[in-house]
Amino acid sequence: MLVPTRPCSARFTRSFFAAPGKGTQRLVILGSGWGGYEVLRGIDKKNWDVTVISPNTYFNFTPLLAGAAVGTLEFRCTVEPVRRYTPQVQFYQAWADSIDFKQKSITCTPATPPVGFGESKVPSKSFNIPYDKLVIAVGAYRQTFNIPGVKEHAHFLKDVRDARLIRTRILECLEQANQPDMTEADRRKLLNFCIVGGGPTGVEFAAELHDLLHSEVAQHHPELARLTRISLYDVADSILGSFDSSLVRYTEHTLRKEGINIYTKHNVEKVEAGKLFIKDVGEVPFGLLVWSTGLAPNPLTSSIDDFKKRPRTDRLMTDEFLNVLRTDGTADQDVFAIGDAASVEVNPLPATAQVANQKAKYVVKSLNRLLQYTPSFDEKGNTKPLQDPFRFQNRGSLAYIGGWRAIYDRSKTSEGEPDQNPMSKESGKLAWLLWRSAYFTQTLSLRNKILVPFYWFLNWIFGRDLTRF
Ligand code: FAD
Repeated sequence: MLVPTRPCSARFTRSFFAAPGKGTQRLVILGSGWGGYEVLRGIDKKNWDVTVISPNTYFNFTPLLAGAAVGTLEFRCTVEPVRRYTPQVQFYQAWADSIDFKQKSITCTPATPPVGFGESKVPSKSFNIPYDKLVIAVGAYRQTFNIPGVKEHAHFLKDVRDARLIRTRILECLEQANQPDMTEADRRKLLNFCIVGGGPTGVEFAAELHDLLHSEVAQHHPELARLTRISLYDVADSILGSFDSSLVRYTEHTLRKEGINIYTKHNVEKVEAGKLFIKDVGEVPFGLLVWSTGLAPNPLTSSIDDFKKRPRTDRLMTDEFLNVLRTDGTADQDVFAIGDAASVEVNPLPATAQVANQKAKYVVKSLNRLLQYTPSFDEKGNTKPLQDPFRFQNRGSLAYIGGWRAIYDRSKTSEGEPDQNPMSKESGKLAWLLWRSAYFTQTLSLRNKILVPFYWFLNWIFGRDLTRF
């Protein structure tokens, strides 16, 4: 429940390190992902003095990253710029390093290179940003389980820059394997594409890569295409653990039929350059290794001691109004936490874009309502909250599985009960249509609403580009 600390009034001027105008509250948003960017989009920017702090100058539309990594879409289609909202809001490309919740101040380090030339480079200086209200939406990091060599030799898929690196590496492997003095054995090693992690991201990447290898690569490198191999490893008994078992069986069957090797109950012990070491199997050479085994805590949330956190994940626990909970159980009404960095204490939800986005919309509503706040009381004399507690609306999960097929799962209702609706599970081409229309609809800007279908169409007509820059 929110209570204003000061009255607000409209203000519209901005300068470096601007102090909020008299009567205007400063809202600081940490992160520009699914949670942070949605708050930025929806917040009343005339009446809140908004500052965004993020190492990224853009928002990543993560569901389209697997496609971008193989050239189904151009990288631009998967991002939205934060600068679209400046100068109306202030933006610093920086990391939030620590937060003093008593002084209401955030210490940040620039995420830009040091200024200067040659020897005279000046290291980036930390700076402090005060806040009246704070939204923590810093997401989570990539999980490696501290397996030796993963950070050094694997590719991740969390950001558009990762997608770019993967695309470059795929094309590099193909051109290297095409050199005349290569032995067939070395070609096979280079063209072994391994994915560790059988969640939706790993499966979607395997599927997109399969599409690339069986269309453009088969067309332009037919002699190499027959040597390529996609291997998907997971330590669990099956892939796609969060999906309904019938959809998992369908996916495993479809992927295997298409020649993708699925190795469940496989435990990766270490990674070296071009080599994966798997327990009871031994050494597996690879040209590309994509690592997608879930989420690790964000160092910022790990460093916070003032609030309750979920063990192991360090996700900040919130009440149902999405305010963080102090260790004594009371809520800090000036601090919200949403997205992968947070978890409602009484109802933990999965770390998905859908949850982050709905929580962000809820926070926006609370903050915007706060501007017209006049306290009202219930029959017991308690201050009424600005809105009802947050409730998640499950719109279902989608995953692309290649060859214009997908799976759609809404077999559980928003309350977690089984959904008896026959349309709650779908697979194949119809699910693929749902997948594409869902992500087209969710694409945010008009620019990307034009670009995304345009590139889908362009690649359907002309094929993906195999040019290596
Ligand atoms: P993020 O979107 O990760 O954003 C975190 C932001 O915080 C980033 O801008 C980051 O740079 C910034 N940040 C990090 N540390 C700091 C700091 N110290 N200071 C300031 N800023 C910081 N979910 C679905 O529901 N459906 C899907 O189809 C789907 N597909 C996915 C595909 C891929 C490839 C990936 C990687 C994820 C996918 N997800 C999907 C999951 C979804 O993307 C995440 O759940 C979602 O991004 C979480 O949103 P968030 O705002 O919490 O974090």
